[in-house]
Amino acid sequence: MEKMYRPLFIEVDLGALKRNARKVKNYLGADTGMIAVIKQAAYGHGLVPVAQALSDEGVDFFGVGSIEEAVELRNNGIKNSIFVLTTVLPEFADLFIEHNIVPTITDISFAKKLSKAAVKRNVKVSAHIKIDTGMGRLGAYSKDAYKFIDGVKRLDNLCLDGLYTHFPVADSDPEFTRKQIDIFNKVITQLKNDNIRFNYYHCANSAAIANYKDSHFNMARPGIILYGINPSVNKDLDVEPVLSLKSKVVFVKKIDKGMSVSYGRTFTADKSTYIATVAVGYADGYPLALSNNAKVIIKGEAFKLVGRVCMDHIMVDIGDRNDISIGDEVTLIGKEADSSVSAVDLADWAKTIPYEILSRLSLKIPRMYMIK
Ligand SMILES: *Cc1c(COP(=O)(O)O)cnc(C)c1O
Repeated sequence: MEKMYRPLFIEVDLGALKRNARKVKNYLGADTGMIAVIKQAAYGHGLVPVAQALSDEGVDFFGVGSIEEAVELRNNGIKNSIFVLTTVLPEFADLFIEHNIVPTITDISFAKKLSKAAVKRNVKVSAHIKIDTGMGRLGAYSKDAYKFIDGVKRLDNLCLDGLYTHFPVADSDPEFTRKQIDIFNKVITQLKNDNIRFNYYHCANSAAIANYKDSHFNMARPGIILYGINPSVNKDLDVEPVLSLKSKVVFVKKIDKGMSVSYGRTFTADKSTYIATVAVGYADGYPLALSNNAKVIIKGEAFKLVGRVCMDHIMVDIGDRNDISIGDEVTLIGKEADSSVSAVDLADWAKTIPYEILSRLSLKIPRMYMIK
């Protein structure tokens, strides 16, 4: 690793990642494959190291968020199947063939370009079609699915390997999610009646994997659960957090009663106390919304963040702990002795979701990979 002058870093426990992947795989069982979702730099954990570790663990299929990510994996020697989980502008269809990437088809003009490029190179290209059963984002609505799929089917040199859909509320609304599973099944049956079959049918994200066994079909798409965040209460999937965010104390001072801390003067000491300044801020992805509303761990003990989060500093009230000094480690996300702060805690405090906390951790923060 490059020399690190600013003491802010991320630890990624690839051992925990692999154990989580094994747990999810065992839970899915032998008949269900998995597309490990590693979009947005593997939810902030680092694209290539995560892909490499999962590949070593036997995961053979990856889901990414862009052609850029797929090409980055190829350029780093990843040979596994790579699936782009979103739709791409038609003019870039050719790149899927050039880099051996599996596209999502949601749009006929893209499908036509893809077919044309495949014919020109005299190859067959594998693709998955996405339909909309209630997400309201990408793909034909289920009632139009048959016509759309039939249209794509007629194009040359496309190998339609998969049919999939996505859930908006698999963590919170059983009625809506059950209805979606039902719709997906009906579309599959209707297609089968007309002899249109796919090798893979998939819809389950992490929450659906945990909450709905009948959503597994023969492929599932776990994302956040691989990183140790279980969006359900399913105890069979007691995954471990993979990422820790750490910094160090860069300054300590005693302030008197009545003195204020940070921009906006939103914190005023009601008694004399020690304040530690820590090198992390909103530019690193540590949300401004945590101002006066987060805990950090120093020497195994939790302390309160006070005042506004700055661009690259936070301040922590360490009370009368005059044994804390410059250079002491600060855990912002992670576990230390009996104290822990999870990405879910930060999300709750900042009124957001753990996905946003993890994926917005700046890519400039050095990542250290280890196996614990
Ligand atoms: C991100 C994503 C997933 C993974 O979702 P998690 O909730 O992280 O498991 C699955 N499928 C699609 C289409 C996605 O975009």
